[in-house]
Amino acid sequence: MPRRRDVDAYAYRRARAQLLAHSDVCALCGHAGATTADHDIPVSRGGTHGLDNLVPAHGTEGCPVCGRCCNQEKGDKTLTEFRAGRLNTSVDWYAGPEANGL
Ligand SMILES: [Zn+2]
Ligand SMILES: [Zn+2]
Repeated sequence: MPRRRDVDAYAYRRARAQLLAHSDVCALCGHAGATTADHDIPVSRGGTHGLDNLVPAHGTEGCPVCGRCCNQEKGDKTLTEFRAGRLNTSVDWYAGPEANGL
């Protein structure tokens, strides 16, 4: 991890704590129980660790409801790109969430 600065890690942890204290509803799957803060605009693409660039998301332990590891699924997409991309998956959204096991 080159050029990762401690001050960034601190800023991120503090913002994450504030964010999750406010809401733990995952911005990616919509279920509660989010344990981490994902960047709307990834840091690698110029995003900041500010609260306005962070959204609650499920981390490596996954969502207790749908089982997704939302933070990892999102990868380096922005939140908008992630949501748009889900519309192009093989999932048949017209069948509704139950039919797709979501
Ligand atoms: Zn989630
Ligand atoms: Zn979920």
